[in-house]
Amino acid sequence: MIILVLNCGSSSLKYQVLDMKSDNDYSLLAKGLVERIGEPMGIYNHQLPGKDKFSVEKPVPNHTVGISKVLELLTDKSLGVISSLKEIEAVGHRVAHGGEYFSGSAAIDDEAISKIEKCAELAPLHNPANLLGIRAVQSLMPEIPQVAVFDTSFHQTIPDYAYMYAIPYEYYQKYKIRRYGFHGTSHKYVAKKACNLVGMDISNSKIITCHLGNGSSITAIKNGRSIDTSMGFTPMEGLVMGTRSGSVDAGVVTFLEEKEKLSAAEINTILNKKSGLLGVSQASSDMRDIESGAGSGNANAALAQEMLFYGIRKFIGAYAAAMGGLDMIVFTGGIGENSSTTREQACEELEFLGVDFDKDVNRAVRGKDVILSTPSSKVKVVAVTTNEELVIAQDTMNIVKNK
Ligand code: AMP
Repeated sequence: MIILVLNCGSSSLKYQVLDMKSDNDYSLLAKGLVERIGEPMGIYNHQLPGKDKFSVEKPVPNHTVGISKVLELLTDKSLGVISSLKEIEAVGHRVAHGGEYFSGSAAIDDEAISKIEKCAELAPLHNPANLLGIRAVQSLMPEIPQVAVFDTSFHQTIPDYAYMYAIPYEYYQKYKIRRYGFHGTSHKYVAKKACNLVGMDISNSKIITCHLGNGSSITAIKNGRSIDTSMGFTPMEGLVMGTRSGSVDAGVVTFLEEKEKLSAAEINTILNKKSGLLGVSQASSDMRDIESGAGSGNANAALAQEMLFYGIRKFIGAYAAAMGGLDMIVFTGGIGENSSTTREQACEELEFLGVDFDKDVNRAVRGKDVILSTPSSKVKVVAVTTNEELVIAQDTMNIVKNK
């Protein structure tokens, strides 16, 4: 089954075309990125595996025009991968927020669209963009089945005492303010992949998954179900991230508002775009720069990375306690897959939990699925690559087939 996977942002859209024979037997046919949608000049980047990237600058006034051009590229004689659009059997969308409506991926119909619209209040930057993509496909390929795969749905199993904030209950009733968590597709995927790698039964396991990238979150997964996660009502909570602050005392927000006469929008920009590794290092949000800065004696870069390492260790300890034990720690995401320093520091002094970390193996691992703990380690530690597009294609295929 050929599936088009779309990840639509407000001014960009990413796509992949996958030929799915089964969940584990698939091939990537094409991928690409359309940027600067709605700006005077846009750009299309299109790539077939093993071939040079094709880029062209052209205005992209809206998502419908962008997707229509992508469909043209996919059926183009030299750049394409299919001879007719009819070969695409389904479209899977990454959708940011499913609120309390969706505890799994869902076929897109009028009811699903109306629920995704209702969740737009919770993800004002993302859900409206995701809906633009869904509507564009409806207008360009009216008959094709579409499926929504949510960043939040895996975390719907978190119990209320872990997802509620201790603010007046009426705000939960009125606005549904609670922890939702994000990166759910990735946490679910890497937990399963890591279990296969070490031969662990996921239905009888206590796993902590660390998705560490530009955005980072850690999830406690007990017997295959998310029971807590570090991101909250928004993706701002939890760990120090590239430009997001992670958890801060809410008192800091009101203090800054008063002292600096800041509006809600300005505070939001500071905490989302100017904080984290960037804010502390005063130099970069990119972990590679932070590591090299720290290595060459930059004290702020060293502080920023130490804050991240400490934060990861703290969550691992907390979630081991929350699950009443620990069988495996999983690292993924751009930092988790590639930064041996982060993995080593995150596992520092975790011997008391039963972690016996193999530093030599760890140092050699970048972007691969590898066991990083010694064979006798009670708690397994692994690095695995994530693939959110694959999960979207798998869920899309399974939902469409079962309909
Ligand atoms: P992601 O958002 O998952 O694409 O991850 C992006 C983050 O991964 C950025 O902070 C990168 O600096 C980081 N990253 C990628 N490669 C490496 C590497 N070799 N060492 C350290 N960090 C890396």
